[in-house]
Amino acid sequence: MSNTNQVERIFLSPPHLEGNEIDYVKQAFESNFISSVGPMIDGLEQEIAEYTQIPYAVGVTSGTAAIHLGLVALGVEKGDKVITPSFTFIAGVSPILYQNAEPIFMDVSPETWTLDPNLFEDYLKAAEKHGEKIKAVIPTDIYGQSCDLENIAQIAQKYGVKVLCDAAESMGATYNGKSSGYDADAAIYSFNGNKIITGSAGGVLVSHSKELVEKARFLSQQAKDPSPHYQHSTIGFNYRMSNIVAAIIRPQLASLDRRIQKRQSIYERYKKALSHIPGISFMPIADYGTSNYWLTVIKIDESLTGFSRDELRESLADHHIESRSTWKPMHMQPVLQKFSYYGGQVTEKLFDQGLCLPSGSQLSEAQQDRIIHVIQSTAFKR
Ligand SMILES: *Cc1c(COP(=O)(O)O)cnc(C)c1O
Repeated sequence: MSNTNQVERIFLSPPHLEGNEIDYVKQAFESNFISSVGPMIDGLEQEIAEYTQIPYAVGVTSGTAAIHLGLVALGVEKGDKVITPSFTFIAGVSPILYQNAEPIFMDVSPETWTLDPNLFEDYLKAAEKHGEKIKAVIPTDIYGQSCDLENIAQIAQKYGVKVLCDAAESMGATYNGKSSGYDADAAIYSFNGNKIITGSAGGVLVSHSKELVEKARFLSQQAKDPSPHYQHSTIGFNYRMSNIVAAIIRPQLASLDRRIQKRQSIYERYKKALSHIPGISFMPIADYGTSNYWLTVIKIDESLTGFSRDELRESLADHHIESRSTWKPMHMQPVLQKFSYYGGQVTEKLFDQGLCLPSGSQLSEAQQDRIIHVIQSTAFKR
């Protein structure tokens, strides 16, 4: 075993700074907008609208805050039912509970790993028959791949269900030539430290509806009525993005396409080196769009590889390489077990077998070779 102190640790998806962020931050400092208002936020919102072609955007403190505001702006209230895939991060679910609404978990499609539109439609059909009202759905883009959003939005519209797309992981991905999130009533992206672009934190809510985004903007700033004194007719939040955070994100947004290319080449290199190993397979890329390749994810079929996902994760960890298991299903989370689940075993199987590999846009070929070597020798040992 190599000496711990001398081996450089490889992280899953560390922040990637362009270098000129500091110039933007300096500009923000010099303008003295050390605040949750300022030209950097305005500029970022405009650039996101241009990039995604979704015309309205409001910058907020996190992707989670954006989901919460999106639900409020779409009218999700106490007791309302909200469908969401079980295969997701809890940040897509917590805001449903902040609203005292009720999540309904659903299985994903084995072809896309995102919400299965057929299950979704079956559920809504049956719900209509027995008079169950569904208020909203949060389809989630996963590991950089868009969900089947046009399809989901069409079904949702037929049954009067609002669509809030959790595109936290998929900024820059496309679906039928449009930006991820485009076909939803509203969508969110995250700028958390592990995402493809980051402000250390941050999120944005986007929509084709000006009214919806303005409502969210109002609520994100403590819901201050237009009045010369502090007056409130509704309860809001302190969710507005900081001008400093916006300054960090803007130059990274400008380089998003290059970052996607880099992550794609990382994915392709893994695929070339590992896909011939019996029992190792890759997350499928749906033909309706392009992924941003946020994370490369493999599946380990232990009956063929002779080693489990967790054994591989541990052997990578022994070599100072961070990898992560795929999301533990929401319907299996101790805090969420009382809510209902609809579907089969796709999500559970993905959780048993899936492993996310280091995919940062600054990962060097030498680092990637180190990772590949550990995986190959784990396979070869058996
Ligand atoms: C990162 C992430 C979020 C939350 O974003 P934050 O900015 O960390 O609050 C929500 N949903 C998914 C699927 C995510 O990956």
